[in-house]
Order: sequence, then C-alpha cells, then structure tokens
Amino acid sequence: MVARQSAWESAQIQLAEAVKHLGLDDGTHQLLATPRREMTVSIPLRRDDGHVEVLRGYRVQHNLSRGPAKGGIRYHPSTDIDEVRALAMWMTWKCALIGIPYGGAKGGVTIDPRLYSRNELERVTRRYASEIGPIVGPEKDIPAPDVGTDDQTMAWFMDTYSVNKGYTVTGVVTGKPVSVGGSQGRGGATSRGVMYSAFAALREAGISPREVSVAVQGFGKVGGLAAQYLHDAGCKVVAVSDVKGGAYNAMGLNPAAMLRAIKSGMESVAGYPGTDPISNEELIELDVDILVPAALEGVIHDGNADAVKARFIVEGANGPTTPDADAILESRGAIVVPDILANSGGVAVSYFEWVQDLQAYWWTEDEVNDRLRAIMDKAYDEVSTLAREQGVSLRTAAQMIGVGRVAEAHRTRGLYP
Ligand code: NAD
Repeated sequence: MVARQSAWESAQIQLAEAVKHLGLDDGTHQLLATPRREMTVSIPLRRDDGHVEVLRGYRVQHNLSRGPAKGGIRYHPSTDIDEVRALAMWMTWKCALIGIPYGGAKGGVTIDPRLYSRNELERVTRRYASEIGPIVGPEKDIPAPDVGTDDQTMAWFMDTYSVNKGYTVTGVVTGKPVSVGGSQGRGGATSRGVMYSAFAALREAGISPREVSVAVQGFGKVGGLAAQYLHDAGCKVVAVSDVKGGAYNAMGLNPAAMLRAIKSGMESVAGYPGTDPISNEELIELDVDILVPAALEGVIHDGNADAVKARFIVEGANGPTTPDADAILESRGAIVVPDILANSGGVAVSYFEWVQDLQAYWWTEDEVNDRLRAIMDKAYDEVSTLAREQGVSLRTAAQMIGVGRVAEAHRTRGLYP
C-alpha cells in the first residue's frame, strides 16, 4: 500500500505552495516551516485501581510573531508530535487569516479518553496542565478544546493553572464553561462558522441551502452542531457518523434528536432508529451536495478522492484533505472550503472569550454571534476574491493570506539579534 500524506507532510506542502505564490525567500520559508518551541512531557497517571501508567503529552508553539500562541488540546490514541506540529502550524495561518492577534499552537496527549474514567481524565489534565504550565498563560499561549477534550477539561486546566499561580486566571484557556469565564456562543461557534462558510460558497454558486443534501463525518463538538445548524437552516442532512460508524436516511435525519440521544447516553449514531448503517468510508463517497468532514485529518486522500461526489467539501476538521486529494478534487471542479477558513469560527469566538476574560466584561450571545458572522464573512470574501484574482484554489488563497501576514509580521519586527 502506498503511504498516504501525513498531516505534517500535508502542512509543509501547503506552506510551500503559498510561499511559491507569494515569492518569499528561502530563509523566510524555513522560518515559517519550523516550529518556534516544542515541549514533550511525561504524564504519570495513577489509575483508579492503584497502578501507575505513564502517558506522553505535547505542546507545540509554531509561531508567536503576531501575538500569544493559540490552539486546542487533543486527547487521542494516535496523537504524536508530528500531528501536533501540523495542527499548530495550521493554527498560525488560521489566526492570521481571520485577523486575530495570535500565533499558532497545539497540544495533545496520546490517550484514548474513552478507556479512562472521569477521575482519571481529571488527573491527566491537571498533571498535563502543570507540566506545560511554564509555557502557557494569557499573554503566552492559550489552549482550548479539540478532539477528545471539552469545556470540563478546560475548567480543570484553568483551575490547575490558577491554583499553581495562587489566583484565578480565567484567560489561560478558552472554551470554558460560562460559569467560570467562558463566552456565550463558544460551544457552537466552530459549527456556526462551518455553516456560514458553506452558505457563502453556495451563494457564490447561486444555490439555495434549501436545495442541498449534506453528509457530516464526525458527530462530536463540531460535526454534531454543524449537522443541526445546517438542518435547521433548511438543508437535508442525510448521513452522519462517528468513530463507531454512521447513520443514513435518504429522506433526511433529525440531528437535534440524535444529539439529545447522545447526551442521554447513546454511545454512537450507528444503529440510530429509522436509519441505515453506513461506514465512514462510504459516507465520504456519498452522492450529496455538501460533504463536511468533521473528525480527523487525512480522510480524503489519493485513494478515495476520485470517488468523492460532493460538489462542496467544507472542512470542519483540520487537515481532512491531503494535497494529493486536493489536486484530484480541483481537477474535477469540486470546491473545497479549506479548514483554516471553514472551521475558524471556533478560534474567532475563543478570541472573544479571551478579550472578555481580560476585561472581565461580558457580551451577550447576539453580540458574539454578530461579530463571529462579520469576521467569517470578511475572511471568506478576502479568500474568494484572491482566489479569483490569482486563479488559485480557495485553499491556496487562504494559505497565501495567512502565510503572507505572518511573513509580513516577521519582516516588520526584524530578526533578533
Ligand atoms: P470531538 O472529539 O468533539 O468529536 C470528534 C468526532 O469524530 C466524534 O464523533 C468521534 O467519534 C469522531 N471520530 C473520531 N475518530 C474517528 C474516526 N477515525 N473516524 C470517524 N470519526 C471519528 O472533536 P471536535 O472538537 O468536534 O473536533 C473535530 C475536528 O474539528 C478536529 O479535526 C478538530 O481539530 C477540528 N476543530 C475543532 C474545533 C473545536 O472548536 N472543537 C475548532 C476547529 C477545528
């Protein structure tokens, strides 16, 4: 079997493409291709039965030229340093693209959280937070939830950091519960942004949301609410999936009811009453108008891109499409709304949360959603205009804007010493 492009390879290839179009010199390219700071930590965990096991954790700060680093924390069994590097680099371009004053970072722990109790996950989080404590903080690096972590994880992280400091520091993480300094609207922000960018792409093509069918891979924080919002806005969501499999109904699903079932303990959408089973691989190839990959990276690759039938691929996940697959999709005329644009609603509202934490002054949900909409519409317009002007894909245009702004910050600050 031919090896697929890894997330880190994909991120490097995408960067090289942007560098080529921007005409940046080799030194700048090398600087942007190399993470600024990386930390690998051991996390000794006392399991509930008393024995001790040692996990690995990471925090990578890819770039700090435009402000403190920003990026999620992932708990997943296949997380490794290269995956975290790729995710950190994508955060740098994403924050620059939507014009918020952050660099990019990402963190992760190699763990399958489904196999650990809540108490064990709390101990993992508190130890991980303490280990990476020296390099995080509201003015240094601000984590957030990602795959396998949630608002509770952020509350434990914030509490641990604050106890170690001796006072409460709400701005050290975003994506917290509202009761401890979280923002209204953060929970659904990434999914809302996915919907806005899908609708912007439809608008350009002269298609109404009411005419389209949708498949969503990943029914977690991003995919679950993206499916619900798209359904509520009139799209027909025909398939959703999670790690255990998928559910399909040609007449359309009711994502809100499925989310309620998950909340009350249903383990997977697979087998949901009134649906047919569908595998994650089949879902990617479904004959739908919009495909929203919202699980992991690399799921659309050179081995299946030819079989993808959706005209619009709206990337809820980070890095779901490899560069090889991008080329195949582009040659077929499919429109890929790239991750750093499509899923940037999450970090946009994380930025709002951090601003509110720093000012200790809280916005209403309408204010948050209005400002999110404004940021996303502006970013989409800039990307789509540049793509048309330069005759490049939305991905290349988005990368050119993000990479270009970071390169500009480096040029302006100068090289020390
Ligand atoms: P999550 O843990 O809440 O949900 C992940 C979903 O993917 C779950 O339904 C899980 O069952 C499913 N999944 C896991 N492994 C899978 C596999 N091998 N095949 C199919 N499905 C699988 O995570 P999330 O926060 O929703 O993140 C999903 C994606 O969105 C990630 O790529 C993440 O980096 C990206 N993202 C998240 C945010 C955010 O605010 N949470 C923001 C921007 C981007």
